[in-house]
Amino acid sequence: MNEFSIIDKYFNWDNDSTVSVGVGDDCAVINLNSDYQIVTSVDTLIQGVHFSSSTRASDVAYKALAVNLSDLAAMGAIPRFFTLSLSFPELDEVWLSEFSNSLKDLSEKYSINLVGGDTTRGPLSITINVTGEIERGCSIMRSGAKVGDLVYISNTVGDAAYAWKQIQGNGSVSSSAISRLNRPTPRIELGRSLVGIARSCIDISDGLEQDLCHILDSSSVGATIDIDRLPLSDEVRSYIKDSGDWCIALSGGDDYELCFSVDKKHIHKIKDIEERAQIKLTEVGIITASRGLIVNGFNAECQSYQHF
Ligand code: ADP
Ligand code: MG
Repeated sequence: MNEFSIIDKYFNWDNDSTVSVGVGDDCAVINLNSDYQIVTSVDTLIQGVHFSSSTRASDVAYKALAVNLSDLAAMGAIPRFFTLSLSFPELDEVWLSEFSNSLKDLSEKYSINLVGGDTTRGPLSITINVTGEIERGCSIMRSGAKVGDLVYISNTVGDAAYAWKQIQGNGSVSSSAISRLNRPTPRIELGRSLVGIARSCIDISDGLEQDLCHILDSSSVGATIDIDRLPLSDEVRSYIKDSGDWCIALSGGDDYELCFSVDKKHIHKIKDIEERAQIKLTEVGIITASRGLIVNGFNAECQSYQHF
């Protein structure tokens, strides 16, 4: 099986009518809506860095697309299409078929078209470039937070890092925590609901502290959050109770929940969104004028993940 039959068999799917030319030509050609802007982002997952050799192909595919969709969610964008650059060391059709099926399932769930890519031999790595669209001028940026805004987090934090820690230490961990690590939920619907309401937003990929600080730096503000108010699953709460390891929630990455700031006058709208999107939104603190992040009730330092 050569490169072109691999592409044809595993990555040439039917697309919707927004794709004028998809997989198979030198470039893809996409129809655009007028009065919308393109929103685009790229993320790479590398074996040994982002996932281990025992991670299933279906989970690798899921996560590679989900983390990219999460970036679109954080901007409030609608997913439209993606490209896939795939490197693998040797042809393994069982792996490819599991990877391709999982990727296709998730792409259908979020109505995003695979329109092209690249296939090469090399260490296992997956790069996905997603593109979405948003009504002109409506994207939710990191730079929009204002003093007095309330800071919210979706769902719970710390679960993915907790699952990773338990797996590394051969400890016991629930399947729901493992799926938070392997199959993060891109908060597309929530992101769309926050357009016109949230003044700033980021997806929590590297840990709450570090990611919230990106909002603070971009917006030239500070924030105070309360450790007691962090939304935690029962499993993570009891782990922290026993270990005192608050850093799992403050700096553990990979949750892909949204952290956003909202003008106080919109509190009632947040309640509506919570009901409509069926997701817990927790107010954890407030944007302040004095720069930096203060975590009430926590005096230690956590180490955030950095590649270099
Ligand atoms: P080129 O040499 O013009 O870059 P390639 O031979 O790399 O084209 O790829 C042939 C076609 O298949 C292109 O349309 C490319 O976008 C698509 N393609 C290659 N690899 C993938 C992949 N893993 N997933 C989806 N499309 C792919
Ligand atoms: Mg190519």
